[in-house]
Amino acid sequence: MLNNALTKENSPIAKGRFAPSPTGRMHLGNIFTALISWLSARKQGGKWILRIEDLDPQRSKTCHALQIEDDLAWLGLDFDEGGTADIGPCAPYSQSRRNHLYAEALERLEHTGLTYPCFCTRADIMATQAPHQSDGRVIYGGTCRPAPQPPFPRTTADRPGATRLYVPDSDITFTDTVCGTHTVNLARHCGDFVLRRADGAWAYQLAVVVDDALMGVTEVVRGNDLLLSTAQQIYLCNLLGFPAPSHAHLPLLCNSAGQRLSKRDASLSMEQLRRRFTPRELTGRLAHLAGLLPHPEPCTPAELVDLFSFASISRQPSIIVPDEMAG
Ligand code: GLU
Repeated sequence: MLNNALTKENSPIAKGRFAPSPTGRMHLGNIFTALISWLSARKQGGKWILRIEDLDPQRSKTCHALQIEDDLAWLGLDFDEGGTADIGPCAPYSQSRRNHLYAEALERLEHTGLTYPCFCTRADIMATQAPHQSDGRVIYGGTCRPAPQPPFPRTTADRPGATRLYVPDSDITFTDTVCGTHTVNLARHCGDFVLRRADGAWAYQLAVVVDDALMGVTEVVRGNDLLLSTAQQIYLCNLLGFPAPSHAHLPLLCNSAGQRLSKRDASLSMEQLRRRFTPRELTGRLAHLAGLLPHPEPCTPAELVDLFSFASISRQPSIIVPDEMAG
């Protein structure tokens, strides 16, 4: 299946995607990412995919996915593939129904001898984490690694464990369209990472790489909280023989206290924003935050396509949302 699907990615069509987790109502930051990703895809004459990242069965709900679709439509962001109706050649577009594809990718990775079962609890990991940490990430100390170096023997575990992927002490360098060139050392900054959890849940890193490749995604636009994940994802692409998409990591929108917006920032949730603004007013304000308009003048996403460029977007890690937007 992976091999069949692999042929699709050679298509010359630019493809962007928006990949929300349907765990609540979107906020201004989510819709900012959606707008920029949509504008970039449209400017390239490409397609735009709505992928539902519902890997977390406890928190993901269909009603949230439907609400996301409604909010995107309200703003004027139409998608060509995906969504809850599973439109398009790469269906299903909800991660909860793509288990067979992740299993096949995992199998392929297991053949490399780079994976091993891990039985560490969170407390074990915290107690033995490697001394180098970045961005508050916990770097796995390697307790369950069966030997100092791969290839590791394939063992059948007698108890449920996670599957972890060894990372070498080498650098991944990538050039982000917004943030510029980054070099990440896999061992120091990421550490061996989980592909499948002990409870059977697929890790985001594996799912996103498989989905982007099999859906033919050429450009990933998302918040810069995922910048470091990009190195892990490029490493996975290399191991699986997938071409890596280009990446554009956007500054995170923050409230006036400097905190990154979350689903708890009710005043900037789509529910409140739709009460206070028309779609044109909200689009104009988002375009202003992206540096595309000198003033937050009302407009439609379609009217912004011609003037869209990543060059106008701030390279700072965050943008403070003006108080008047929070109502
Ligand atoms: N599902 C992730 C989120 O909602 C986005 C992942 C991605 O764009 O790679 O934050």
